[in-house]
Amino acid sequence: MYDLVVKNVKIDKKGTVDIGIKEGVIKRIGKVNEPGSREIEGMNLLALPPYVESHLHLDTALTNGRPYRNQSGELFEGIQVWNQYREQYLTHEDVIKRALEVIEIMSSQGVLYMRSMVDISDPSFTALKALLEVKEKVASFIDLQLIAFPQNGLVSSTEGEQQLKRAIELGVDGISAVPHLEATREKGFKSLELCFQLALQYDQFVHIFCDEIDDSQSRFLEVVTSLAMESSLNERVSVSHVNAMAYYEEAYVRKIIGQIKASNINVVTAPLINCAMQGRFDSWPKGRGITRVKELHESGVNVAVAHDDFLSPFYPLGTGSLLAAGHMLVHLAHMTGAEDFDAVIKMLTSNAAKVLGVNQYGIAEGNEANFILIRAKNAQDLIRRQPVAEFVFSKGRIIAETPPQKTKWSAMDLVDGMPVQNK
Ligand SMILES: [Zn+2]
Repeated sequence: MYDLVVKNVKIDKKGTVDIGIKEGVIKRIGKVNEPGSREIEGMNLLALPPYVESHLHLDTALTNGRPYRNQSGELFEGIQVWNQYREQYLTHEDVIKRALEVIEIMSSQGVLYMRSMVDISDPSFTALKALLEVKEKVASFIDLQLIAFPQNGLVSSTEGEQQLKRAIELGVDGISAVPHLEATREKGFKSLELCFQLALQYDQFVHIFCDEIDDSQSRFLEVVTSLAMESSLNERVSVSHVNAMAYYEEAYVRKIIGQIKASNINVVTAPLINCAMQGRFDSWPKGRGITRVKELHESGVNVAVAHDDFLSPFYPLGTGSLLAAGHMLVHLAHMTGAEDFDAVIKMLTSNAAKVLGVNQYGIAEGNEANFILIRAKNAQDLIRRQPVAEFVFSKGRIIAETPPQKTKWSAMDLVDGMPVQNK
């Protein structure tokens, strides 16, 4: 007897199957004849593994407009607004309330794995301590990873290194550096060396904010690939943004893509925030505000798409939808070819799961029963319409249901000669 049987769902391009679940684990995919304590009619919906958010900021999310709105929309003003918010409003309760709201919004849409950056420049670690508590609170249905992120630099600020070590002691999953924001190139290199050394020592993921600047001279990516190989941290290393790559000479792009591939590191792109922030200082023609996703993907690099900022001083929009990020990506990266849509869906599911190092990801017998049911014909249809998942299953339980929206259109009688099938 199963705990739950989900009848008649589509998986991949195969036919319709049933999913039998027991003790939170998928026991059978195929025809299920045994009954379940509970049975759900899957209505031929598409079953997909859950979305994986590989770069988000739960500490800054939903703060947009306080203490004031970012007037220029630029990154540096965003950092100023955030520093003021932190001084005036940031409390333990405030962080918990906003983080839980974001988790509700995103898990309702089918995000069941999440990696959040946490700014650790605050000496009292208000946001980090609150988010460590949130991680525990939501652990029964969502895997939340926390990455310590030194917004003010690791080496240029006197407290940077100490703060990072304390964050590791408090219990983060990974650490970061922002080499292009350090005062000098040498300090940028030192920040990376320090980050890798601590990651090795304390068994941490590395997730670098790398070359998030429209400057062809910003070349920290090559240092990251080199350190990833020397340290053997390889696939435990990710770089976000790498916007400078859009400005590199072609010969250097070829070299660096080879190094990324050899080092096996992951690249995370955040098309929503990247295209809003980048290209601002270019004269026309302006860049597209995104790294070279298509070339990276075609070279076999593991690329993930992330939502990133959500109603924060850095980005006044965001719905928590990874499909919206994917929709933006297919435009910016020129990925509207027939095979591209499947690739982009992987970037917000299985590729992103590799970034987080998720074990047993995907809909398969023996795996945890984490999946969503969604109304879509295929990947192209998913990205075009961005439907919300109708059911979200986490560890064998339904955690969210969203009935499809239905519009009653009553103007057909007003149209002379409207074909009968449209009535
Ligand atoms: Zn970010």
